[in-house]
Amino acid sequence: MFSIQNYTVESLASQFGTPLYVYDGNKIEEQIGKMRTAFAGTNLKLKYACKALTNINIMKLMRKNGVDIDVVSTQEAHLAILAGYQPHQIQYTPSGVAFAEIQEAVALGLRMNLDSLPLLEKVGQTYGNSLPVCLRINPHIMEGGTLKISTGHKDSKFGISIEQAPEIYEIVQKYDLKVVGLHQHTGSDFKNANVIISAAEKLFDLAFKYFPNLEFIDLGSGFKVAYHEDDHITDMDKLGKGVVKVFNEFCAQYGKEVELWFEPGKFLVSECGYLLTSANVVKHNPGRNFVGVDSGLNHLIRPMMYDSYHEIINGSNPDGEEKEKYDIVGYICETDTLGKDRTIPTVKEGDIIVIKNAGAYGFSMASNYNSRFRPAEVLIYNGAAQVIRKRETMEDILKNQIVLDI
Ligand SMILES: *Cc1c(COP(=O)(O)O)cnc(C)c1O
Repeated sequence: MFSIQNYTVESLASQFGTPLYVYDGNKIEEQIGKMRTAFAGTNLKLKYACKALTNINIMKLMRKNGVDIDVVSTQEAHLAILAGYQPHQIQYTPSGVAFAEIQEAVALGLRMNLDSLPLLEKVGQTYGNSLPVCLRINPHIMEGGTLKISTGHKDSKFGISIEQAPEIYEIVQKYDLKVVGLHQHTGSDFKNANVIISAAEKLFDLAFKYFPNLEFIDLGSGFKVAYHEDDHITDMDKLGKGVVKVFNEFCAQYGKEVELWFEPGKFLVSECGYLLTSANVVKHNPGRNFVGVDSGLNHLIRPMMYDSYHEIINGSNPDGEEKEKYDIVGYICETDTLGKDRTIPTVKEGDIIVIKNAGAYGFSMASNYNSRFRPAEVLIYNGAAQVIRKRETMEDILKNQIVLDI
């Protein structure tokens, strides 16, 4: 039987029910350790991109491990504050939000990462040089999985185009803006270390040319993790060696030891997460077998939205010799395939089917589609399994509905 730390998936399912998100907290710490090792020799600061998995206990775990946080909304910032973060540990990287939200973020004392020329202009008009800011630069690099998840190419909505550097500088001069950081985020799933290095070099050039008072360079994230058994992943050590070398050369030339920031989401939490489901039905159609589980795109939308591959195992019988090929499908009234053509040990009704790499963008993108409840979440940390979010009930579904007298 398949286990997560010292718990078999069947014991977790019978204690907490399915569908169930389970996170291995110690695995998260391992991933943090890998990054620290890879970038040793720099003044490294990790900022967890919490949109990947926003349970407050995961944020607390990050904080306990000295990892700061990157938020994309003021709501995430409020969660981070509740998790114990000081506002200055929170980097706010919004995309196209109303200026009222920017004002709220400033009032909260967050660190600002600005991603358009009009926003830069407004911040200058409103706050003058009183606000230390970071600039999100789009380095025009195409990398990172598919167009849907790539953010650093020329046609992406994210960041200020590097070709607009003179315009940026004009606004910075006009308001005497205090630029303390330069940021780029190439998007998810890049695997070529040279890409992040060439993006970094573009930021270094900008720093030399226009920004003499930087405190940090933020190289974003997008590290690829192994979804498929034989996936190519970001080789963190190789990437580390390359980045550390060019970064230290940059600091020497720049005349100052600036901080090196990264904002990993997926790399820290993807592999720690498992979606435990039960096989409701096994269907042998002519030409295709289906396993229907008690979950679907309402709980894990990545396979349908990004065509992403998640390894799926029969947790009740992971090593069975007798195998069959199945499509693993959800219970949503919609084509709802979690995994296609998977050859796994024969499934019988009630088996626990485990979907791996479900920590990042799993629960945080879950919905109530089909008016189904979102799953409970369990954290296993140092050998103890604890519920960190209750399963929803009918009350949650109705909570904000106003029932008219019709
Ligand atoms: C989403 C996001 C990240 C995290 O990306 P991953 O692929 O999950 O590592 C980092 N930085 C910013 C600004 C983001 O929006």
